[in-house]
Amino acid sequence: MHRFSKKVSRLIEEGSTRGATTFNFVADCLSRCKAKHTGCLPQSGIAKYPTRMLRIKEHCVQLVELQTPSPMDYICLAHRWVPQDPSHHGYEVSRRCCTLKSNILRHKDGIQMEDLLPAYRDAVILTSALGLQYLWIDSLCIIQDDQYDKEIQIANMGNVYLNSYMTIATDTYRHHTETFFSERPWQWRAHKESIHIANGSECGVYFRERPDHSLGWTGIFERGW
Ligand SMILES: [Zn+2]
Repeated sequence: MHRFSKKVSRLIEEGSTRGATTFNFVADCLSRCKAKHTGCLPQSGIAKYPTRMLRIKEHCVQLVELQTPSPMDYICLAHRWVPQDPSHHGYEVSRRCCTLKSNILRHKDGIQMEDLLPAYRDAVILTSALGLQYLWIDSLCIIQDDQYDKEIQIANMGNVYLNSYMTIATDTYRHHTETFFSERPWQWRAHKESIHIANGSECGVYFRERPDHSLGWTGIFERGW
């Protein structure tokens, strides 16, 4: 449903959410948060940081183990997994992007960008765009077939999210084998149109349809962390 004619408008905003408009918006929100929200700052004395993180390099991410977890800025990814059912079409792909006892050394050497799940690649892109180097993703930072490690890490999960610089909550897709960036519907992009005002001079007006900000994945608000 377009409420205006495409012919007379000029697109001035990127079509994809994977671009500078999004990255700048997030960076602005974060700097406002840092400057004004005292409640969002890490609480001294209770901070517990992750023991493993993904360090972003130029062409890969490396799984790093921190002997003495220390305060640092990192981003968390909250995402939906492919159903853990071997008959699901995305199961095998998803499984290849888990840290297991058999591949942890390989993940410490580095996971190539093209081997990451699309949602993970997107999180790397956003983290880098915000000038950060560390990312925490559960399937890669917890050894998935090590019950002992899982118990320790899951017990600390609340702290991992609590102390993150930001959490990316992917609401728009079915699961992590899909990208979470998307194409903006045409009517939600900013458009410019020239109008003549009373004194005869011309000025530009920017307009768009009001986007629906309701979230599709209500499950995000039902999680424990
Ligand atoms: Zn805040």
